[in-house]
Amino acid sequence: MKHAKPEAAFRVKVITLFPEMFPGHLGLSLSGKALEKGAWSIETVNPRYYTTDLHKTVDDSPFGGGAGMVMKPDILDKALKAHLPLGRFIYMTPRGTPLTQKKAEELAKEPLLTVLCGRYEGVDERVLEAYKAEEISVGDYVLSGGEQACMILLDAVIRLLPDVVGNADTHAEESFQNGLLEYPHYTRPAEWTGPDGIPRKVPDVLTSGNHAKVKEWRQKCAEDVTRERRPDLWSAYVSQNAKESKKVK
Ligand code: SAM
Repeated sequence: MKHAKPEAAFRVKVITLFPEMFPGHLGLSLSGKALEKGAWSIETVNPRYYTTDLHKTVDDSPFGGGAGMVMKPDILDKALKAHLPLGRFIYMTPRGTPLTQKKAEELAKEPLLTVLCGRYEGVDERVLEAYKAEEISVGDYVLSGGEQACMILLDAVIRLLPDVVGNADTHAEESFQNGLLEYPHYTRPAEWTGPDGIPRKVPDVLTSGNHAKVKEWRQKCAEDVTRERRPDLWSAYVSQNAKESKKVK
């Protein structure tokens, strides 16, 4: 008797003009193993398949003039309608809310995401309105397509799915998890000389065996690096801590 493959607990549909880009690097390493195990699944949808003209046109020039082309709303609509339900519908765009670890955690709890990858100048605004797209950016720079941005988003989410990263404690101490950047890491050999000829020893506290001191040192390093490199995160951390200590009193 044949059994259908059970549906993955986390499913992704990607709307893209370049389906051959997926799963890409997501098919390797931890996310690749998880894909093989069926912890998540991916389906690509090419809007070009839903065109009816000879040239398979998916884009047109912008109303009002200007450079570049815009992805057509009627074609995207057909592609989306043919793949309902969409679950949480996301459009990758530099105009979106910045992707954060908190957002990745939130998305990892969803059973189904549909991610629309833009090309050219982007997509007709009316599609985003009609399908209530959540707009997400991966940073303040412009990529040539939404596919790379989608991969970043999926990578950040997939590694948070249950059993994808072997040791769940990994997440607890990572950058952003507690509002701070992570402390530095060291491994064997305990002393190493680099190309500058300077011998460098691992900080003594890490080889002391004193777990409380190690914890204290790591916390201080995390605080120092956050204060130096990310004043925005540091002030959010300080005010969050101030609020929490008020609550305790
Ligand atoms: N004209 C758009 C603008 O200035 O905002 C940029 C279009 S870009 C060349 C083509 C597509 O790449 C976008 O529609 C979007 O899907 C994707 N993209 C580019 N940069 C991105 C970013 N920082 N975050 C998320 N998606 C991005």
